[in-house]
Amino acid sequence: MKDDSILTHAGRHPKQNHGVVNPPVYHASTILFPTLDTFYGRDKSIKSTYGRKGTPTVFSLQDAVCELEGGHGTILAPSGLAAVTAAIQACTKAGDHVLIPDSVYAPTRMFMDQTLARFGVSAEYYDPTIGSGIEAQVKPETSVIFMEAPGSWTFEMQDVPAIVDVAKKHDIITIIDNTWAAGYFFKPLALGVDISVQAATKYIVGHSDTMMGVITCNKETFQRVQDMAFLSGMCAGPDDVYLAQRGLRSMGTRLRQHHTNGIKLAEWLQQRPEVLRVMHPALPDDPGHALWKRDFTGACGLFGFVMKSVEERQLAAMMDNMKFFGMGYSWGGFESLLIPTNPASVRTVTKWDVEGQSMRIHVGLEDFDDLIADLEAGFDRLAKA
Ligand SMILES: *Cc1c(COP(=O)(O)O)cnc(C)c1O
Repeated sequence: MKDDSILTHAGRHPKQNHGVVNPPVYHASTILFPTLDTFYGRDKSIKSTYGRKGTPTVFSLQDAVCELEGGHGTILAPSGLAAVTAAIQACTKAGDHVLIPDSVYAPTRMFMDQTLARFGVSAEYYDPTIGSGIEAQVKPETSVIFMEAPGSWTFEMQDVPAIVDVAKKHDIITIIDNTWAAGYFFKPLALGVDISVQAATKYIVGHSDTMMGVITCNKETFQRVQDMAFLSGMCAGPDDVYLAQRGLRSMGTRLRQHHTNGIKLAEWLQQRPEVLRVMHPALPDDPGHALWKRDFTGACGLFGFVMKSVEERQLAAMMDNMKFFGMGYSWGGFESLLIPTNPASVRTVTKWDVEGQSMRIHVGLEDFDDLIADLEAGFDRLAKA
């Protein structure tokens, strides 16, 4: 099946469900065993044994995401961050060393430094553009190399196959945060990555109304991640799972629109006198473009740009009165968003020495000309403030 058919059909079983197109929403804690044999686990014909272990509602989303990412098994988490932390915890023990890109989603860094550090797992950060040079940072106790491409806020691409080669040579597990590509524009498991995690909160849910995480594993890593998730009590609520699987059905069409309008808007911003630099790997002059072109088949609606330095009152004049661009966290919904960022504040081993005001923009599904008019008016207010 091609991706768009996976998105529309995978994980659904209308024939087992009175012909109803969508999976039913099972609210369950107790699930009754029909026989003592099934209760004792000798008869394994029962797939659901307890609410926390999953219901057909949960399996529906798991199966669809697993097929999309080309994995062996997918586990659901109650948020994207929970997916990231469970995957890392499943692959580390006290004394281990983990390599994390300096451009990583900031809460992932905080989890490593504030939580896993207390359990004796040390995080070392690396230049996201390091490629095969990462071998110099590998230690005997390195158990995980984490990746995220493109990076949060700064959008550097990573040479995933080169890093995977080094990891395989040293028997290190690779985990990637694949939220930006939504499992649709990039297939890390096909390139040898062991685990792909996503904040399904973003494009899978797609409507800014639900928190959800997905962890897709290859055969070698699935059991340990499943055990970690189960023993830490992790599960996702049935109504949220239902909304995520509903969002997934239209994700391909939405992403194509985000792709087209995102690139158009990035090109428009490049021409603006207020803008010093646009960080979008699909732009031919972006430093990560060659890697993006080699490994990805598209771009979502999220990217960054740097404006000339502005005073806060000027920024406020722009931001406080936007018509379509909302100011808020998360992204991947149908609506456009714009926030100021401060990349230098969340880095430790590489320098973000770009002068000016960094911004993160999510290009939603609104009419393109309306979005341009909104930004133009915003830049005008900024200039006059
Ligand atoms: C949003 C995000 C997360 C966390 O997802 P939540 O559902 O908000 O917990 C993780 N990684 C990346 C790259 C994200 O953008």
